[in-house]
Amino acid sequence: MSENLSRTVFRNEVLAMSAYKVADAKNLIKLDAMENPYNWPEHVIDQWLQTIKSCPINRYPDPQAKKLAATLKKVNQIPQDSDMLLGNGSDEIIQILLMALTPGATVMAPEPGFVMYKQIAQSLGLNYQGVPLHTDDFALDLSAMLKMIEQHQPAVIFLAYPNNPTGNLFAAEDIRQILDSAPGLVVIDEAYAPFTDASFIDKLAQYPNLLVMRTLSKLGLAGLRLGFLAGAPELIEQLHKIRLPYNINSLTQMTAEFALNNIEFLQQQTNTICQQRSQVFEQLNALQGIKALPSSANFILFKTENKPADAIFHSLQQQGILIKNLSPQGGALSNCLRVTIGKEEENRAFIEALTSTLNAAD
Ligand code: PMP
Repeated sequence: MSENLSRTVFRNEVLAMSAYKVADAKNLIKLDAMENPYNWPEHVIDQWLQTIKSCPINRYPDPQAKKLAATLKKVNQIPQDSDMLLGNGSDEIIQILLMALTPGATVMAPEPGFVMYKQIAQSLGLNYQGVPLHTDDFALDLSAMLKMIEQHQPAVIFLAYPNNPTGNLFAAEDIRQILDSAPGLVVIDEAYAPFTDASFIDKLAQYPNLLVMRTLSKLGLAGLRLGFLAGAPELIEQLHKIRLPYNINSLTQMTAEFALNNIEFLQQQTNTICQQRSQVFEQLNALQGIKALPSSANFILFKTENKPADAIFHSLQQQGILIKNLSPQGGALSNCLRVTIGKEEENRAFIEALTSTLNAAD
């Protein structure tokens, strides 16, 4: 009965979808979700608790989150003549942006890429077009992209810079050509900005169709849920009409403001993560049967050449380590696994467990 009811009331795209699954990490070393592994130092937590004590929780939050938006703008060096949309994570921003499109519009992204572009586009009944990356190094296939742009006239193109799950930065010159050729908007998703100096924020004034999206999640505030989109005021103005009035709650506004005013300790943590990334990359490539891809993010994609990725993933899990198995996605990701950079001791445990898995007789 309720199944019939679902069929009657819900769109076919929704019925055909699967919900986004998050693995259960209980009792495991969690290296699957690109989180910062370090919590806040004790004295910072004390200062933060003092700050949020004064939060007027009985009142609605500032609907524009003006103070926080101004701080985000300053910290991220957003040009003065750009405007900002804040979201409950950048996931919500993707949703707000796509909700504003004309029905049937096309959304385009290179693949493999961040799955939410496709998931949200399809949930809204939009036309989604993935464009394969080069299979050897996961670079953009510029001629394929330009051909697909010509053919499908996308309203929005998402380019994650660095890309998830591959970790590489696409060539900036390729991105510029896409910006020049796109009939609609190009969103440069800089979720992994804390781990690279590369950015398109300084190009906002140059390209009227460019939007830059960032998040505080990878810096170390994944639990807070805060992302933002920067771009031309006339574009951002349209998106403010779609977002819910109080989408950034008071505690998030106060906490993000506090964290950004004390950003040095978070930057020290991301520097440590970058140092650890170099070490894990070398250790992975020193292993027989593993090919790791250079990364500009806080994770590394690696391919297993002798043993199936599924078997390695399960063996690591049995040894108490959770990473991400991308092999079920198939195609260019067959036999690919993704490990998030953790604390030094967690990375060591991962490399040791992987080494023993590779050395074990089948
Ligand atoms: N963009 C990319 C490329 C990502 O990898 C992620 C998270 N994995 C997000 C956006 C979403 O981040 P959040 O919603 O936590 O801001």
